[in-house]
Amino acid sequence: MKQKLIAGNWKMNGSLEANDALVRAVAAGMQDAKCDVALCVPAPYPAQVQMLKAGSKLDIGAQDVSQHAGGAFTGEVSAPMLREFGVRYAIVGHSERRQYHGETDAVVAEKAKTALAHGVTPIVCVGETLAQREAGQTEEVVKRQMAAVIHVNGHCISEIVVAYEPVWAIGTGKTATPAQAAEVHALLRKQLLAASAHAGRVPILYGGSMNAANAASLLAQPDIDGGLIGGASLKAPDFLQIIAAAS
Ligand code: PEP
Repeated sequence: MKQKLIAGNWKMNGSLEANDALVRAVAAGMQDAKCDVALCVPAPYPAQVQMLKAGSKLDIGAQDVSQHAGGAFTGEVSAPMLREFGVRYAIVGHSERRQYHGETDAVVAEKAKTALAHGVTPIVCVGETLAQREAGQTEEVVKRQMAAVIHVNGHCISEIVVAYEPVWAIGTGKTATPAQAAEVHALLRKQLLAASAHAGRVPILYGGSMNAANAASLLAQPDIDGGLIGGASLKAPDFLQIIAAAS
């Protein structure tokens, strides 16, 4: 059975002082973890986290990456730059990027492709809004978002990480029930397997108000291979309890 992956998404939170305490506590507390653990930190901080994590098997992630490898793209951060700072993962297509920065399915797919080409594993986020769920469009929406990434990435699709993040559950305290999450994870797995015989190894994470209290029941579902954790990743004791639930 593959190890689960617990990835924290700090969003636009952190400071040199706060990161120092948080990373040291997580690194010290996860010594016996039997899952993979990553922290997706704001763009200025990978170097600091790389220094603080020394000796622990904590991985570093970014929260976004450019679809371009370099050049005249003011404000962007490229995958080769991230690699130089030991970044292993980059979230692409988070709903906050889709919503506030107009990222389309096509842009998300290109970001995933550029990341993969430069040795950064994209964590591709898909998920429906509340209105879409209530209109019975969940399957259509997540399949469309996933299909764009499959179309552009072809057989490399087996090298990505997927995160199912229902938009209505992100930062709201509302969590998908284990059954609701499992239903979407199963259809994503089927879609990935239809694209690549090796897609059984793609971790499909659940994200959306996962916390110390609900992690175990979500992580017990067959196709839930880990979590993408926002708010609870900012508190070491909570994040460590989720890591323990995945171990
Ligand atoms: C996220 O931002 O990816 C997320 C899942 O946030 P939260 O856990 O706070 O809902």
